[in-house]
Amino acid sequence: MLEIKASQTVKEGSIFGQITTMDHEQLVICHDQATGLKALIGIHNTTLGPALGGTRMWPYASESEAITDVLRLSRGMSFKNALAGLNLGGGKAVIIGDPKLKNEAFLRRFGRFVESLGGRYVTAEDVNMKTSDMEYIAMETRHVTGLPEVKGGAGDPSPVTAFGVYMGMKAAAKKAFGSDSLAGKRIGVQGVGQVGKYLIEYLVKEGAEVLVTDIFEEKLKKVALETGAVSIEPNLIYDLEMDIYAPCALGATINDDTIDRLKCAVIAGGANNQLQDEAKHGQILLDKGIIYAPDFLINAGGVINVGAEYLGGYNRDIVFQQTEKIYDTCLTILQKSAEEKIPAQQAAIQAAQDRIQAMGKVKLSF
Ligand code: NAD
Repeated sequence: MLEIKASQTVKEGSIFGQITTMDHEQLVICHDQATGLKALIGIHNTTLGPALGGTRMWPYASESEAITDVLRLSRGMSFKNALAGLNLGGGKAVIIGDPKLKNEAFLRRFGRFVESLGGRYVTAEDVNMKTSDMEYIAMETRHVTGLPEVKGGAGDPSPVTAFGVYMGMKAAAKKAFGSDSLAGKRIGVQGVGQVGKYLIEYLVKEGAEVLVTDIFEEKLKKVALETGAVSIEPNLIYDLEMDIYAPCALGATINDDTIDRLKCAVIAGGANNQLQDEAKHGQILLDKGIIYAPDFLINAGGVINVGAEYLGGYNRDIVFQQTEKIYDTCLTILQKSAEEKIPAQQAAIQAAQDRIQAMGKVKLSF
């Protein structure tokens, strides 16, 4: 009998086409007339446990843009959680619209949708969502994490994220320079937000020569003054000679325009989705001999923190110990990348997929 594969029954570009290509379990469409809520919840893979990933609110130009974003982001969470050693799957939610639309009823309605999934998806904050928004969501569901400390949560995950980035950067330095010491290294940090500012503190303390930039001049001046780092114009970051470039602002900063301008030996930063085109730009970095510490590997401190909060018995010391392991994982991935001559991003995705597959087999006997 002719076997018909799922991929043969769906059209390329259709919703099922995208879900099949990226291998998702579920895409949930949430709508509420009364509050104007329009949200999508993407559940990529729950082999390791409940799908954990934040909710992003964004005025997407089209529904297809929002679908692509939620599918891409939830897939990324599966890999991030797997590689961080968490027993959590990958998911993400996007709310379509102007963040000004948010109010108590709107957020609680969204919380009801999360609750309706019975714990298959666990939410947290992401772009344009704050810990205070999580408080409203928590009124309707237990499946939310990243609550403020005063509400029994673990608070802002950024210091943990920054620590993980610092660990990943040291591992990448060891691979590139033979030593993980950052003393005397010239490091450019792009974005002095929540993650950037804590990272800069670690780097300055270790004796690195730190160049910092941000599109908000006041913020930039303040951080430079407080830390002793040298501030530079936003665009200069791509053209200056430096040992390490640390993207800590938005994604896709490694793209067709910037990749040939970069004069660094290492890229290691906290921003999500740094490579505009994962396959193409990952390969170019490998060809150029630039050591790239995969973003989803080294910025996992935040999810380690919110994951620990969700699973219960939160202990900050244990969270930092678990985040410290990013150093070893990063070295292993960079070694695999060098030995197999494959981009580090690809090596990291393979390692994440291997863990998901292996753990799936462990659970077969349930
Ligand atoms: P943030 O909004 O606090 O900081 C981002 C900073 O980047 C802002 O100061 C902004 O002005 C600046 N910026 C924006 N565009 C810029 C540009 N073109 N040039 C220079 N600076 C620019 O965000 P954050 O929480 O620090 O997160 C930074 C990145 O790390 C994001 O990509 C985020 O998705 C990722 N991330 C954050 C966490 C976390 O725990 N906060 C966890 C994982 C990943």
